Amino acid sequence: MYSLKNLTIKSFHEGLTAKKFSALEVTRVFFDHIKETDKKIGAYLSLNEEGAIKTAERVDLAISQNEPVGALAGVPIAVKDNILIKALPATAGSKSLEGHIASYSAGVIQKLKKELVTFLGKTNLDEFAMGSSTENSGFHLTRNPHDLDRVPGGSSGGSAAAVASHQAVAGLGSDTGGSVRQPAAFCGVVGLKTTYGSVSRSGLIAMASSLDQIGPIAKTVEDVAMLFRAIAGGDDYDATNSNPEYGEELLNPSLEKIRALTVGIPSEYFPKELDEEIGKAVDGVVMDLQGLKINFKKITLPHTKYALPCYYIIMPAEVSSNLARFDGIRYSRIEEKRLNAKNLREIYTHQKGEGFGTEAKRRVILGTFVLSSGYYDAYYQKAQQVRTLIKQDFDEAFKKVDVILTPVTPTLPFRIGEKISDPYQMYLSDIFTIPVNLAGLPAVSIPVNDWNKGDGSLPVGFQLIGRHFREADILGVGQYYEKIAK
Ligand code: GLN
Repeated sequence: MYSLKNLTIKSFHEGLTAKKFSALEVTRVFFDHIKETDKKIGAYLSLNEEGAIKTAERVDLAISQNEPVGALAGVPIAVKDNILIKALPATAGSKSLEGHIASYSAGVIQKLKKELVTFLGKTNLDEFAMGSSTENSGFHLTRNPHDLDRVPGGSSGGSAAAVASHQAVAGLGSDTGGSVRQPAAFCGVVGLKTTYGSVSRSGLIAMASSLDQIGPIAKTVEDVAMLFRAIAGGDDYDATNSNPEYGEELLNPSLEKIRALTVGIPSEYFPKELDEEIGKAVDGVVMDLQGLKINFKKITLPHTKYALPCYYIIMPAEVSSNLARFDGIRYSRIEEKRLNAKNLREIYTHQKGEGFGTEAKRRVILGTFVLSSGYYDAYYQKAQQVRTLIKQDFDEAFKKVDVILTPVTPTLPFRIGEKISDPYQMYLSDIFTIPVNLAGLPAVSIPVNDWNKGDGSLPVGFQLIGRHFREADILGVGQYYEKIAK
């Protein structure tokens, strides 16, 4: 028999095809578990019970007729509520989109539908993916399953908490500045920020289009690699997708090749403010990997300190443009109010004034300011130039090393309410993840301590950053780490 705790994509597939259980049976157990535990955790915004059961029945039928099914068939997953699934709610965590039903499915969802993946429901997030704690959701809080008084991280806090509390086998999130990796680290699960252009952004409610990427969250690096392989590649609706090919090496990395990689340790990612426990945990990872005979080298990424200010100019500029579409003419919250409005201002007041939360408003205002005439050159253009310097730091580093190892976050999961009134402190949560988005690189967050240990300690993650489209390197090192660390 299985237990939800031990179910991974891999073990689900093995059990299903060996007919140890049916997809329907497991799906029902997941919904029972969600209904029992989600009152406490708050991972989901909406459930897709009917749709999930239909898919599970289809998978079971295929298996009963001995038809071959793929490795993801029937796998119950949780999807962040800024990724569209046709005919299901899509709010992006914003009151302004309450009641909105998606009219089409995102590129990644179409790919997963072909694999007969089961979608359990849509998960909570910071409004429009803006935040690091999921406290900016327009609907409710999500709690960290390891300590209910703490945040799960954000903005994909719902998906990370769902996987960590066994309310889904795996999940999808989106990462603009750390939103897959930081909640994965806080919840003790694995999260991959994919190379910019490797996964379709079609049907992802855009936050900052030059930074956004959808990425998988799961319990093991191997599962993340499987889900990534399934969603990677383009479609006709994302012009920035490079349509990359990813082969078998993602799933079966060779130890010989992994040992031939050199891992860089950038001094800028180990400042004196780094939490002591995190510093120690990451040192332990380096020792474990040295045990595998992987080589290490000290490197430097000198422009790292400019990444946060640079991101907080480019990102809001793009946010202000992307959020302009929610003007109340399209995506109207309450149709009647739109029809009865006396003028445009009343429509905006209703849609944005009442529909957007504080953080969304702050970023729209900031973004409009840095793009305005007279300030564009001083802020936006300057930030674009700094972005190039940050990318060049990585280009230089990747001449000497193949993979870069860093902490994911400067602190352990913080308490609910601790940072919500101090945006600058909240923004600092992402200082180790943001440079990766500015440079468009892939990076994975992997738990240091065994996520299932259950001794009350809080999870700590480490980050592996790779060259563009070299997810195989970071996931390969990660898969071997996982073998020796458990
Ligand atoms: N926490 C960062 C922000 O608020 C990153 C968000 C994200 O990656 N979506 O901008």
